[in-house]
Amino acid sequence: MAIARSFKMYLTIFIATTCFYMVLYQYHISKGNSVLPAEEIKPPLYIITPTYRRPEQLAELTRLGYTLKHVANLLWLVIEDANKTSDLVSKTLNRIGIPYEYLIAPMPEEYKKKNKAKPRGVSNRNRGLDWLRENATEGVFYFADDDNTYDISIFEQMRYTKKVSMWPVGLVTKLGISSPIIRNGKIDGFYDGWIGGRKYPVDMAGFAVNVKFLLERPKAKMPFKPGYEEDGFLKSLAPFNNTDIELLASECTEILTWHTQTKKNPPAQILNMTKFHHTNLVKLDVSLIRT
Ligand code: UDP
Ligand code: MN
Repeated sequence: MAIARSFKMYLTIFIATTCFYMVLYQYHISKGNSVLPAEEIKPPLYIITPTYRRPEQLAELTRLGYTLKHVANLLWLVIEDANKTSDLVSKTLNRIGIPYEYLIAPMPEEYKKKNKAKPRGVSNRNRGLDWLRENATEGVFYFADDDNTYDISIFEQMRYTKKVSMWPVGLVTKLGISSPIIRNGKIDGFYDGWIGGRKYPVDMAGFAVNVKFLLERPKAKMPFKPGYEEDGFLKSLAPFNNTDIELLASECTEILTWHTQTKKNPPAQILNMTKFHHTNLVKLDVSLIRT
């Protein structure tokens, strides 16, 4: 009898506990909270990546995409300098499997014709800004070129940017680095191999901006001015002062982003179909970008 009674008691405790947790779980769901609320409340990150058709394109997007896959609550805005989207790019983005929007924004013809420096990625980034104005209400955005290298810790740091945050970028110009100069905890100029009369001589990979801050500045955009894209965009965010800039990467003492450049590959030679038409090379050939 004693055994039966204690069994009943344990059963009652078990059922009561189970019911308690079920009610608690239902309560979480009804409030729209996940079991891991800490992940949910992270502000969204919008990563604006200009890209363009070339033999290295899918390799660049693959490397960057898998870096971004380590980052929570992120939307990747992949914007191609082209008149139409590419199936090979879509396939690559789907394979990586992170949330993305794939948009197009061709460089205006007038800039393409020039033999001198082109405003690379500008129409793409401005398209990204337009997308944010139409779709985003909060969070932070960052211009991440497809060929650069990013330590994932910078994404968690930039996520909490209130206005504009900045940090050093490696492999820029003859100095090997581009960074705000910090003296006594404050910005005292910028270290960059090319100043060129710029107010903000910084690299594209070295700053992030709060979405609300952007939305409050409807005219902010990037100029089609080679060498002055960052400077022009940051100036268009006025009103804002150097004292508003949040310094990341341990007060700009660490390098967490690099302006890497990939070697340009010549387009692959045409596949000899007579020789290889019954082989795997035919399928492989379809996944090559030649121009
Ligand atoms: N880009 C583009 N159209 C172009 C050339 C470049 O959209 O005609 C993109 C490119 O994919 C990259 C960014 O613009 O994300 C910067 O270009 P690039 O890396 O060639 O410039 P660099 O880093 O050498 O200044
Ligand atoms: Mn580059």
